[in-house]
Amino acid sequence: MPELPEVETIRRDLSKRVIGKKIAKVIVIKKKLVRSPLKSFIRILAGNSFVRLDRRAKLLVATLKKGERFLLIHLKMTGQLLYQRGHSVSGGGHPQPPPGTELPNKFSHIIFDFNDGSHLYFNDMRQFGYMKLVDKKEKERIFSEYGLEPLSKEFTLTAFKKLVAGKKTPIKKILTDQKYIAGIGNIYADEACFAAGILQTRLGSSLSELEIKKLYIACKSILKKAVAKRGTTFRDFRDASGARGNFVKFLKVYGRAGEKCLRCKKSIIKKSRLGGRSTAYCPVCQK
Ligand SMILES: [Zn+2]
Repeated sequence: MPELPEVETIRRDLSKRVIGKKIAKVIVIKKKLVRSPLKSFIRILAGNSFVRLDRRAKLLVATLKKGERFLLIHLKMTGQLLYQRGHSVSGGGHPQPPPGTELPNKFSHIIFDFNDGSHLYFNDMRQFGYMKLVDKKEKERIFSEYGLEPLSKEFTLTAFKKLVAGKKTPIKKILTDQKYIAGIGNIYADEACFAAGILQTRLGSSLSELEIKKLYIACKSILKKAVAKRGTTFRDFRDASGARGNFVKFLKVYGRAGEKCLRCKKSIIKKSRLGGRSTAYCPVCQK
């Protein structure tokens, strides 16, 4: 699943293209991807436009010009959000079907036609993703279920300490629990733990003050860098041009199981499972 940096990359690319464009028509081919009453979904969107595109956790949030409504978009495992104008395509998401596949294709389930002739396609192979129209109150309620945005100023060391200290939960589960911190998944949790020299299985309560601080700094700096590098291309993400997220070059443990550790240059990166997720770590560098 795309994590914060990947969703942020899509948001930035699409913002430049869809904002202010009048939506001429919305075509819903697979109804199950719309988690709102279908008729009003189409009625509210047609003739409307997006005034801004934000991100909360892994959700994209488009503010509509008319009607005080917000369009929430979640790509989940295999969603793609592709904007097409003439031959140029932007946006991104799951690498299948490969960028360059004709649009629309059999995975295009919701289509926005803008009145300048451009289109926004919501493609989803496995159909776990969704779109939902909400009012302000519902948006606030959904937002409140998510924890701190790790790149916001509310994500302070003190706030992070409060989340970690005393918890009898493996630190990786704390980092990836969306109700504590929003937007961190498998890739960035493993990378942050490695950077901080902490094994993912350690309980929150076992971390020293210094370890908490190191992990806090690691989370912030890794996410920031990953956003700057347009995310990580692995199995789950490509931008619309098919370009790889450049952060892949900076991965130290994720996807490197069986390879030599880049830091200690002695140990081999190991892989285990933690709470049903694969976890990569260096048994020498992480304690
Ligand atoms: Zn190592």
